[in-house]
Amino acid sequence: QKFVYDFTEGNKDLKDLLGGKGANLAEMTNLGLPVPPGFTITTEACKVYLDSGSEPTALRDEVSAHLEALEKRMGKKLGQADDPLLVSVRSGAKFSMPGMMDTVLNIGLSDASVAGLAAQAGDERFAWDSYRRLIQMFGKTVLGVDGELFEEALDEAKRAKGVTTDVELDAADLKRLVEDFKATVAKETGRDFPQEPREQMDLAIRAVFDSWNGDRAKLYRRQERIPGDLGTAVNICSMVFGNLGPDSGTGVAFTRDPASGHQGVYGDYLQNAQGEDVVAGIRNTVPLADLERIDKASYAQLMQIMETLETHYKDLCDIEFTIERGKLWMLQTRVGKRTAGAAFRIATQLVDQGLIDEAEALQRVTGAQLAQLMFPRFDEKAKTDLLGRGIAASPGAAVGKAVFDSYTAVKWSRSGEKVILIRRETNPDDLDGMIASEGILTSRGGKTSHAAVVARGMGKTCVCGAEELEVDTKRRRMTANGPDGKQSIVIEEGEVVSIDGSTGKVYRGEVPVVPSPVVEYFEGRADGAAEDADELVKAVHRVMTYADGGRRLQVRANADNAEDAARARRFGAQGIGLCRTEHMFLGERREMVERLILADHEDERDEALKALLPLQKSDFVELFEAMDGLPVTVRLLDPPLHEFLPDITDLSVRVALAEARHEPHENELRLLQAVHKLHEQNPMLGLRGVRLGLVIPGLFAMQVRAIAEAAAERRNAGGDPHAEIMIPLVGTVQELEIVREEAERVIAEVERATGTDLGLTLGTMIELPRAALTAGQIAEAAEFFSFGTNDLTQTVWGFSRDDVEASFFTAYLEKGIFGVSPFETIDRDGVGSLVRAAAEAGRATRPDLKLGVCGEHGGDPDSVHFFHEVGLDYVSCSPFRIPVARLEAGRAAA
Ligand code: PEP
Ligand code: MG
Repeated sequence: QKFVYDFTEGNKDLKDLLGGKGANLAEMTNLGLPVPPGFTITTEACKVYLDSGSEPTALRDEVSAHLEALEKRMGKKLGQADDPLLVSVRSGAKFSMPGMMDTVLNIGLSDASVAGLAAQAGDERFAWDSYRRLIQMFGKTVLGVDGELFEEALDEAKRAKGVTTDVELDAADLKRLVEDFKATVAKETGRDFPQEPREQMDLAIRAVFDSWNGDRAKLYRRQERIPGDLGTAVNICSMVFGNLGPDSGTGVAFTRDPASGHQGVYGDYLQNAQGEDVVAGIRNTVPLADLERIDKASYAQLMQIMETLETHYKDLCDIEFTIERGKLWMLQTRVGKRTAGAAFRIATQLVDQGLIDEAEALQRVTGAQLAQLMFPRFDEKAKTDLLGRGIAASPGAAVGKAVFDSYTAVKWSRSGEKVILIRRETNPDDLDGMIASEGILTSRGGKTSHAAVVARGMGKTCVCGAEELEVDTKRRRMTANGPDGKQSIVIEEGEVVSIDGSTGKVYRGEVPVVPSPVVEYFEGRADGAAEDADELVKAVHRVMTYADGGRRLQVRANADNAEDAARARRFGAQGIGLCRTEHMFLGERREMVERLILADHEDERDEALKALLPLQKSDFVELFEAMDGLPVTVRLLDPPLHEFLPDITDLSVRVALAEARHEPHENELRLLQAVHKLHEQNPMLGLRGVRLGLVIPGLFAMQVRAIAEAAAERRNAGGDPHAEIMIPLVGTVQELEIVREEAERVIAEVERATGTDLGLTLGTMIELPRAALTAGQIAEAAEFFSFGTNDLTQTVWGFSRDDVEASFFTAYLEKGIFGVSPFETIDRDGVGSLVRAAAEAGRATRPDLKLGVCGEHGGDPDSVHFFHEVGLDYVSCSPFRIPVARLEAGRAAA
């Protein structure tokens, strides 16, 4: 096994092994782009280290061999006293985790080589500053010294000299600072700062490995659902310097605008600085376009390289580069993160440019992005109180109370408050607070600052670099100058602000929100949309056309009334996969069901059923009309009993009170006795679904009659109803057979009476493990299966679906037992394997068995891919998620 790859040996497809950064550095090297030479230690080496606690034995020799080759190529040795080769040691996992893991620059500098560097660079100040940076970074990330100690010493040095910026410190000041830093390291760690270059390098490599399991990295992975066992690669790259004077600098660039997708020059440049300064947003940058004025040749070369990269990657790329004394170096590229809207636009732009085909375009967007575009935005016509504006870093409309630190953000959000986290700039320690907030506002940093990058990744609204706002975190307030720049408006902690991540505007108070243009488009009323929205809607429309054209899965809706059905249809539903009839009995009809359940005489029961029949029938008529021509699966009653009976405690109290007051309470007492008789400890495992249908004579027959009569009425009125009758909570084929016989009798009766052939089909839900395990038998009596993955998940795991998310799931997620709730995304290994097996067994019995799913998973992107894989015919989900399901079904098939 090979643990180290030279940049010339890898390529962009080796991300698993070399990490994203390493794979792309190799790719750029092989494209002939100016990448400083170096090599990458694989994620495999990291995994060995993380599993066993020590590096693989072969690693040391392999690193030596690659280092030697690098030294030969550069004509100098690592840390060589008169002319030191310096390297950076950077983490780089398969998935980008911005700022989450460690990096150490200037490895190779020591007391012995600092003078050599000064001589070579012709700049003593630069050499001492580089050494100072090394000890600081190394001390903090490798040796675990509190970074504040270095920061304080640096501030103290500036104070002592009466200056405010680092650049005003001269070589002598920095030399003193180095001594200071070394003393701090010795004092804090009980050892001297390592002077041996190779030891520096080995320790830094190990620190990068360790940073994979740092708290920040773990939290980020959980958020982004990145598996915890991938490990990170380590990139060792010869140093180039952007801080060698005004003809040097560093920057970041995008080949397209990551917010709109438009082609052009997007990025930030910082003269005379090192890369970390830009990403950290510590100093304010200039727009990339200004580089043309500063260094025309490098600018031209960069534009050329950006074009090469876009054509090569056939996608938006983001880039980090450094200019060292007029020579351009590429330090990183990757397919860049982008906003949801830009993802759709870029996908269609690239199709138009002939760079990708439609199937590939589908892979460039996600259902989650589409869902994000369906969020509401601020009402443009609303009267607003503008505080100022910043950079539109991550779209959306967020309203909340101003908080100025992450701790408060977390605390307030736990108590149910919506908050906006306001910081001068964010750093990885703010992650908790960012997660807890509706949106993030910073006064410094560009589109590539920490706040912007992380917020975009999370899909959180973010406005950054709002420089007109003065953020005072100590006094927990911010001061704004208002629209004319002349006022002084103070916003204290707790005051409501609204931030618009699509325009960068920041408002005082709550701005009303309006629906998204994408939703308007799906609703079929995309009139008068702004030009910008138009462009987005067109892109979404095109991508949806690609998806619909290719998908095999049909998409249906879970809908219980005509209004939802109509909306679902506008959103592209191809029928109703689940009409929960118990939802038709809520509100004032609840009492009728209560009467039915509690009836102890046949007459009473018949009367209750007779009263329900016309109501049910008219519901179904409306539903069939709204879905005319498309299938409508009506599920017979499945109420957990407790939802339809009076609360036993309330009732007991009422009876006791009446008794004490000597008031008449015969009815209450009778009700109480009946409720006692039916009271269940575990209602979700009790008298539900088919069980209820079997113990309450006439209930299912009444529902079947209502369905059949409604269908007949629609048919006779010239409609085209396609009703499917579905039996819930079946565990064994015998249950189904009994219901089926009765249903067939009722249907035949209605058909005879109305002179129609209704073509009704009868099927079942598969939502109990026993049903899944005996699916082959059940299919004898069912024309279709619909997987009820809510109950199936509940019963396979033995988790109460109503309780666990609030009780122990947070702990489970934190411990990484699962990355996402199994009620949200299908548990492929457990619940999923039952679904797969039941689908196969069912089809073995009945090859034309129709298969669908109607649990919540039907609208979840990952789960949709799974249902495609196991060969279901359709997914059914809530109306609002239908576009997402359509898109994901298309992506699964592409
Ligand atoms: C299910 O169990 O997945 C289902 C769709 O039924 P309900 O959620 O109504 O129990
Ligand atoms: Mg169910």
